[in-house]
Amino acid sequence: MPVLSAPLERRITKAVQIDHVTVGGGAPVVVQSMTNTDTADVDATVQQVAALHKAGSELVRITVDRDEAAKAVPLVRDRLDRLGIDVPLIGDFHYIGHKLLTEHPACAEALAKYRINPGNVGFKARKDIQFGTLIDLAQKYNKAIRIGVNWGSLDQELLTRLMDENSASENPLPAEKVMHEAIIQSALLSAKRAEELGLGADKIILSAKVSQVQDLVAVYTELARRSDYATHLGLTEAGMGSKGIVASSAALGLLLQQGIGDTIRISLTPEPGGDRTREVQVAQELLQTMGFRSFIPIVAACPGCGRTTSTVFQELAQEIQEDIRTHMPVWREKYPGVEALNVAVMGCIVNGPGESKHADIGISLPGTGETPAAPVFVDGEKKATLRGENIAKDFHEMVLNYIDNRFGA
Ligand code: SF4
Repeated sequence: MPVLSAPLERRITKAVQIDHVTVGGGAPVVVQSMTNTDTADVDATVQQVAALHKAGSELVRITVDRDEAAKAVPLVRDRLDRLGIDVPLIGDFHYIGHKLLTEHPACAEALAKYRINPGNVGFKARKDIQFGTLIDLAQKYNKAIRIGVNWGSLDQELLTRLMDENSASENPLPAEKVMHEAIIQSALLSAKRAEELGLGADKIILSAKVSQVQDLVAVYTELARRSDYATHLGLTEAGMGSKGIVASSAALGLLLQQGIGDTIRISLTPEPGGDRTREVQVAQELLQTMGFRSFIPIVAACPGCGRTTSTVFQELAQEIQEDIRTHMPVWREKYPGVEALNVAVMGCIVNGPGESKHADIGISLPGTGETPAAPVFVDGEKKATLRGENIAKDFHEMVLNYIDNRFGA
């Protein structure tokens, strides 16, 4: 097995244009998110879309589940436009998408992409008609679609057929493999049908979401092997807090490392009253720590141990990271390239100077029993030694000066 030190080459898929955002075709992996407001509540939806976009979401999906929501979509788009927020909106449809998009042309126009779940388009005879209507509408309004299969709402007719064929075969596969095959086939057959109905492959993105890491990796690896449609990655029902972050990062990280995935969403369940933008932050951090994209300067900090019982370095690392996050919306304009900056805040002499030398600017704070002095390294050279009460404040100023000197006009 090869030892990897860099991701494998990106798998080149068909590029799909969603307004000004390109997904696939070798474009940088796009970060997207989804609101959890009632879309009919225009104020709340505009506010959350704006917050997600400000946090870095490049596409935002909203639920369109009934007439009131469909009526609100053009109002949301208009309000965002007036605020100067040009993030493309994706409509998430289940069961009655064909009806809502037909009856609300302003909604069909305002959305940049339609997400269609082939398991929830309709059943039996109506399924083909309703799917066909959605594809006709996508062509009429010149919109891209995502064929978003989800194992929780998988096309039951397809699954039953594959299960029956499997039981009748000489060497039946485990049920889990048949389920994977049903998910993959649901996505590919729907995409093929959309193309037969006239929609270009450059208007189709596929997703095939499951909730277990190994299943997700198996399904997407096979999906990528069998087609070159652009893909949206996401682990569905990833969960809350660290569990959701770890599971999503493990699953998406393995696929991204293989060059699979053109756009990602981290489906985190927020804590009650929690911040929805956390999912955007995690998606960005995943892409940045894997070396795919740079969004925000990274502050590397040591974990601390018995060699430093003071919390000074933790506070300093946190303060600098928060300061960077707060200033990034302005810095992005003012200091082009600043997102690639690396800052190190280390707790003692063991790894402090070494790690700090590798950062653009780094500080090695004194550990327990060490001389109370903190060397600061700038571009690998020791530039200052800070002492006394104001170490944190002085280092903070040095970081700001470094940013201004290196990235300022
Ligand atoms: S740099 Fe020092 S304080 Fe930080 S983890 Fe390493 S040994 Fe511990």
